[in-house]
Amino acid sequence: MRVNSFPKNDRTNGWFNVLGEQPAARVFSGESKADWVIVGGGFSGLGAARRLGELRPNDRIVLLEAGRIGENASGRNSGFVIDLPHNFSQEQPEHDLRQIRVNRMAIAWLAELVERHQIRCQWSHRGKVHVAATRQGRKNLEVMAQRLTGLGEANEHWDKARLTAYLGTDYFDYGLFTPGCILMQPAALVTGLARSLPGNVEIYEESAVTGFEDGATKTLETAGGKVTTSQVILATNGWTPAFGFLERQLLTMHTFASLTRPLTTAEQAALGGEGDWGTIPSTLGGTTMRYTRDHRLLIRRSLRYRPDFTITDGDQARILGEHHETFAKRFPMIPDVGFEHTWGGVLCMSRNHVPKCGLLADGVWAAVCQNAVGAAKGTISGRAVAELAAGADTDLVADMTAYEELQRFPPAWITSLAFRARIAHAQLTARKEA
Ligand SMILES: Cc1cc2nc3c(=O)[nH]c(=O)nc-3n(C[C@H](O)[C@H](O)[C@H](O)COP(=O)(O)OP(=O)(O)OC[C@H]3O[C@@H](n4cnc5c(N)ncnc54)[C@H](O)[C@@H]3O)c2cc1C
Repeated sequence: MRVNSFPKNDRTNGWFNVLGEQPAARVFSGESKADWVIVGGGFSGLGAARRLGELRPNDRIVLLEAGRIGENASGRNSGFVIDLPHNFSQEQPEHDLRQIRVNRMAIAWLAELVERHQIRCQWSHRGKVHVAATRQGRKNLEVMAQRLTGLGEANEHWDKARLTAYLGTDYFDYGLFTPGCILMQPAALVTGLARSLPGNVEIYEESAVTGFEDGATKTLETAGGKVTTSQVILATNGWTPAFGFLERQLLTMHTFASLTRPLTTAEQAALGGEGDWGTIPSTLGGTTMRYTRDHRLLIRRSLRYRPDFTITDGDQARILGEHHETFAKRFPMIPDVGFEHTWGGVLCMSRNHVPKCGLLADGVWAAVCQNAVGAAKGTISGRAVAELAAGADTDLVADMTAYEELQRFPPAWITSLAFRARIAHAQLTARKEA
């Protein structure tokens, strides 16, 4: 079959661009055989490649990535490695506890790799603050605080004075601090992870899989060559249906971020605050923010439903306008900073908020659908699918295979209508949170 939908790199990702000159991509060419082929070089694919390389040190493992590692969603995100669930399961707290357990395992694994391989990605144990500027936002956070307390998880209420001292801006009235989240520079982390994989993993970038033939022997075709194998791991996020799997079970949405240049010393003083930080909005249509260790401000706002993955110039212009508006409201003390970079990226979600980690067909495995929080979830999903495929019987495999199956979405036209309405509603009702 032709794989006719894969990401095309627009080279706009600020996190990647500020890394400076990167080594040229090694592009796949020729015809060869591999024991394993992993498609996708985000957190999920890199987690799978590392674990498989460890468990099968004598196997040839080929990883094919359509773009550059670090230019994908894994390098484009807001840089929160989150330990806690985003959606709490009221009836079944054991689901939340399992999510926390596997997320913390991912964080511990990543922390160890950052240390061992000296990955310079601004890895920072600063936790996260959920912030509210409206009464509804505050209500949402109070419910969240109750759930966290019920699960025995640490959380602190922060008032306006505490928030202002910590963040510099006095925009927010209510905050909920949780200590277990890590902040990082995502493109620096994923490129560092890719460069420190076991020696039997070969990475090829700018090598989109454009043809896939399933069977006892599977053939994956790129523009420059073909590789045959008996075992494939798809770590292809929202593009997985292009391989003929999980159709109508994944929903993709774009969201967008803008990054400033580093603030000058005078601007840092005008902003104030207590060092680097990360905030999460209290409503779906709200704004995520970061103040990085190298003194840049990031805002992540704006949602678009674009199932054909096309973002128009009109979209870009409106989004940039939204980001300027958000920045001006929160940071009136530094009006001349502006943005150096603005970009969009793809979130992949399932109807029942669960990932797909496991078998799709004979010899075809998946670690996909991280439901918008993939730094921890993708990493651990990739690790788990490698253990499962390699026949390792671990507690992690038991945890990750305990998820229910992905529910199907209604036909495309209904999903499209419903989802566009949901996004419009979220953006409209976000008000001061946006
Ligand atoms: C702006 C933004 C902010 C976000 N903020 C956060 C955050 O702070 N914390 C967090 O945890 N999550 C965040 N997310 C979500 C997170 O980035 C994703 O959940 C995560 O990156 C998913 O990882 P992945 O490896 O599954 O997918 P991806 O990173 O998308 O990797 C999939 C890879 O598959 C490749 N691929 C697809 N098709 C093919 C093909 N045919 N051939 C070859 N390669 C192919 C793609 O090129 C891509 O590199 C954010 C996302 C965005 C867009």
